[in-house]
Amino acid sequence: MNVLVTGGAGYIGSHTCVELIETGHTPIVVDNLYNSSAKSLERVKEITGVSVKFYEGDVRDEALLNKIFDENEIGAVIHFAGLKAVGESVAKPLAYYDNNLVSTMVLARVMGNRGCKKIIFSSSATVYSGDNEMPLRENSKTGNCTNPYGWTKYMCEQILRDIAKADPDWSVVLLRYFNPVGAHKSGKIGEHPNGIPNNLMPFISQTAIGKRKQLSVFGNDYDTHDGTGVRDYIHVVDLAKGHVAAVNYMQDNKGESVFNLGTGTGYSVLDMVKAFETANGIPVPYVIAERRPGDLATCYADPTKSREVLGWVAEHDQTDMCRDTWNWQSQNPNGFDD
Ligand code: NAD
Ligand code: UDP
Repeated sequence: MNVLVTGGAGYIGSHTCVELIETGHTPIVVDNLYNSSAKSLERVKEITGVSVKFYEGDVRDEALLNKIFDENEIGAVIHFAGLKAVGESVAKPLAYYDNNLVSTMVLARVMGNRGCKKIIFSSSATVYSGDNEMPLRENSKTGNCTNPYGWTKYMCEQILRDIAKADPDWSVVLLRYFNPVGAHKSGKIGEHPNGIPNNLMPFISQTAIGKRKQLSVFGNDYDTHDGTGVRDYIHVVDLAKGHVAAVNYMQDNKGESVFNLGTGTGYSVLDMVKAFETANGIPVPYVIAERRPGDLATCYADPTKSREVLGWVAEHDQTDMCRDTWNWQSQNPNGFDD
């Protein structure tokens, strides 16, 4: 089936293109390359032997989307395109609301007009309210987001939920990702954030390669086994496979469905540092720093529903995550830039 992948040149999108191709689907990518490089799709070709059809442009451009639907028979859409930097969203809320909400609304309008009513949306564990008990289940409380990025995910979920309610022909799958890390085992595609990384794993790998002097561990006085924050890290290839499972699920299921994509296991910051050092034999210097405002002590998923309904389960372990992150980082110290 032809699957339109918005944001398909990005980190999770490029890995999902590989998994779609390997399961017999045909990804078609639209991406404005705001936070990515078209080289990622050349690498997808190196991995799979398949050249991905690529439209460079913005998902908010309705004429472009119409052109894509004119030129291709689209069976389903995976909507990754969006801005995702939490701190930047606090500084530039309007840019985040505009990009993330308008892209979703324009996309849904064109899809509805074209009778393509199957959409998978990239949501996030950040939509869960901070006062839930762990592990988080799909029916745990949502809202009380701590930043505009989180609110855009919360609002896009609501928009798509309302569309599914208004028209029973729609199939809307909301995938709530926990903490995506790692890279394809080939080392050809991976995550390369612009500037100083906000997220833990890119910071660890850039420290290991010498681009950063040391990691700052944000707080060691949380109520966790070693005092540092605990998260549910999930290998990006497992995450990508979760999207393929959702594409297949949508063939026979209409309405709105929500799934957690996590492993169900939480690791602390220091657990990840030690695992990275052990997996790769490279030291990761760190210092203990102040807590980062807005951080929770602990956040991990209950992935039972994804296992039972989608038949999906994360297969890569912590060592795989650390090894594949380093394999990508060490082969591509500057990401896709030569
Ligand atoms: P990414 O930045 O690597 O990929 C997003 C892609 O979308 C980029 O290639 C970017 O150029 C493109 N894009 C952004 N706005 C666009 C627009 N208006 N039109 C066309 N293209 C546009 O990020 P990612 O980590 O691959 O994340 C993919 C999705 O998953 C995002 O929606 C993100 O919010 C969500 N998500 C990511 C994480 C994470 O930690 N990586 C966690 C939860 C949810
Ligand atoms: N973290 C850290 N130093 C960093 C980046 C992150 O100690 O440079 C910690 C952060 O406080 C959290 C965990 O690592 O406990 C994961 O943070 P990340 O930003 O990757 O994900 P999120 O907080 O969005 O779950």
